[in-house]
Amino acid sequence: MVVTCSSGVKEQLGDLNKESFVSLLPKLIGESKYVQNNPPDLIPEEDRIVRHVLDALLPHSTTTGGGPLIINHVTYKPNRGNLIVEYPGNRPANIISFVGMHMDVVTANSSEWDFDPFSMSIDGDKLRGRGTTDCLGHVALVTELMRTLGRMKPDLKSSVVAVFIASEENSSIPGVGVDALVKDGLLDKLKNGPLFWIDTADKQPCIGTGGMIPWKLHVTGKLFHSGLAHKAINPFELAMEALKEIQTRFYKDFPPHPKEQIYGFATPSTMKPTQWSYPGGGINQIPLDDVRLTPFYNVPDVINKLNEYVEDLNKNIEKIPTRGPVSKYVLPDENLRGRYVIVESSRILRGICDLI
Ligand SMILES: [Zn+2]
Repeated sequence: MVVTCSSGVKEQLGDLNKESFVSLLPKLIGESKYVQNNPPDLIPEEDRIVRHVLDALLPHSTTTGGGPLIINHVTYKPNRGNLIVEYPGNRPANIISFVGMHMDVVTANSSEWDFDPFSMSIDGDKLRGRGTTDCLGHVALVTELMRTLGRMKPDLKSSVVAVFIASEENSSIPGVGVDALVKDGLLDKLKNGPLFWIDTADKQPCIGTGGMIPWKLHVTGKLFHSGLAHKAINPFELAMEALKEIQTRFYKDFPPHPKEQIYGFATPSTMKPTQWSYPGGGINQIPLDDVRLTPFYNVPDVINKLNEYVEDLNKNIEKIPTRGPVSKYVLPDENLRGRYVIVESSRILRGICDLI
């Protein structure tokens, strides 16, 4: 982690304290069971993490410790606080911020783990437990940074702001975490300076992320006795053929982009089925798909294209390859045609990239 500063901040601060980090992290992972985020069953209590961070930072705060750290515990739902911590530099307009260290975790099923996920264990040079990298490890790391700033009081041109957030792993309960902080204008001043989003499940700086377009393909066929397949429109076959065609067209229109190499993307844009559901005994089945899109393609372009593909398939349903002598997608005698309907989700995420 590099902090821009007036002079020799590394000399002023020294290295972050390993022992102190390794003693803080087990306290956080010890709470991980209670900060699993999967409503309505599991609603995290992020204040359990906030308490440990405050234990570390309050001795250096303006309120109780007579130190330089300005601490704001911002809570929108009971037990689900966020924490904004500021170390003031000597030029108020200059701000560097670390945002996104989230205090909730994804669920862990103990029976599927070789070791207890809800307590930190050490295996050689590895620290283990739910949240070690995503994201309680980052919470501990930035807490250590702020504690060191509070203790050493280096002379910095820029203020350093850390924003520990609630509710990152699941967005089904809105108005708890960073969305609420932004809405309240509490992060506005961070726009003046570089902002590092500290939440990547690995240990390198992340300079680009992919976007996501979830969508569903509803397929309508015609139910008929399996022994008289010539009178049916098999929606499974129809769905499989459509997916093949849609995928083929997608990869032609959105092939690997040369910039992906520059940014080190491990994978180009992809489009594939991820889940299927068949509402028993009926005539519909629904593949649930997603598109993962590197930020070099435009989301509306992709959505337009997907709609175009499906429209085209509906128009040309007679030409879609069938499977076997009686498989068909049109029954002229009954005036029935198989049909596709595509529904995009509103939960679209755009990718970002930034090479500094
Ligand atoms: Zn995360």
